[in-house]
Amino acid sequence: MPDRPIYLDCHATTPVDDRVFEAMKPFFTEFFGNPASVTHQYGWEAEAAVNQSRTTLADAIGATPEEIIFTSGATEANNLAIKGIAEAYYSQGKHIVTVATEHNAVLDPCRYLQTLGFEITILPVQSDGLLDLAQLEAALRSDTILVSVMVANNEIGVVQPIADIGQICHDRQIIFHTDAAQAIGKIPLNVQSLQVDLMSLTAHKVYGPKGIGALYVRRRHPRVTLAPQLHGGGHERGLRSGTLYPPQIVGFAKAVDLALATLPEEAQRLRQLRDRLWAQLQSLAGVHLNGHPEQRLPGNLNLSIAGVDSAALLVALQSTIAISSGSACTSAKIAPSHVLTALGLTDDLAFASLRFGIGRFNTEAEIDRAAQAVITAVNTLRNNAINTPHSDAINTAINSPPD
Ligand SMILES: *Cc1c(COP(=O)(O)O)cnc(C)c1O
Repeated sequence: MPDRPIYLDCHATTPVDDRVFEAMKPFFTEFFGNPASVTHQYGWEAEAAVNQSRTTLADAIGATPEEIIFTSGATEANNLAIKGIAEAYYSQGKHIVTVATEHNAVLDPCRYLQTLGFEITILPVQSDGLLDLAQLEAALRSDTILVSVMVANNEIGVVQPIADIGQICHDRQIIFHTDAAQAIGKIPLNVQSLQVDLMSLTAHKVYGPKGIGALYVRRRHPRVTLAPQLHGGGHERGLRSGTLYPPQIVGFAKAVDLALATLPEEAQRLRQLRDRLWAQLQSLAGVHLNGHPEQRLPGNLNLSIAGVDSAALLVALQSTIAISSGSACTSAKIAPSHVLTALGLTDDLAFASLRFGIGRFNTEAEIDRAAQAVITAVNTLRNNAINTPHSDAINTAINSPPD
């Protein structure tokens, strides 16, 4: 195979770590039982593996095993949390608060609930991407049943003050959900100290397999109830029916276990690589960092390069590096990222953005090559002035940023 581009899109997904893959393998062919089969050894073996994985994941966030509900990923976990709370608590109020920079897997369920008569407040963020806590407090009402604020943003990597938000919600007895898809295994998470009631997780951003995630649902102080969104065999305490998928569950737990084992050292290494990349790219005229400089994921760098259309830049870079931009194709039209516009970026700067997601398998040499490639491509585009914004060729070449 010819050299493939350097992968720097770890907010979209990550490769499955070999150690994770090895842990998963026996559960496809040998220990293939259905964990719900209670009458024979095949079922017991699968159930034992699921139980062990559930305990590992619970320990990872300071929860108990009964509080972990397996789902197909963070999208489903967010849907279960938001719609499940709305349906279970609507008699106490129909007001939900979230934030403009949330993932669409939070915003879209909220918009859907709006069509059913719920009132949704979407809070703005400050220019650094952080939520203003005074604004949050001012938005809360006696009929607010749920607040949903993500831990770490998938585009700009900004980490919200989750413990403070948890405190504000608990003081008012409002249920607090957080989407931790980008945070698990990258920064320490503890549902007790953060005072989180519901937490969405996924495996594939942390070197685990795609198609598996979980929702943490608090059982004590307070006990949170949810209306299930998938009905059937009554799996997962009735909250999420469907046959459990032991290879994915085992891989998820292994991935989180591996990430936690080296979390501080790896965070430090990624931060150094990210700062190295940023230092080199700052030699370009007109670069602008998007999001808070320190309160962000260690492997994240999101920047805009004034006057350079990122779609054209990505085409120029596609054989060298795999990164994404802050624009998303919605059918035929390209729209600027809702996250970047929430920071107050102009459309031009939002269309000039690049998102780097540095991960476990990236090296210093790759970072240097990537930086050089970006600098060369920007200079070429600027010299040739061929960066006609949003030509048809560019529109078809750009991919929406998957996250
Ligand atoms: C990736 C991501 C999701 C979606 O997770 P899936 O497991 O792919 O469904 C949701 N929220 C955030 C913040 C993400 O980064």
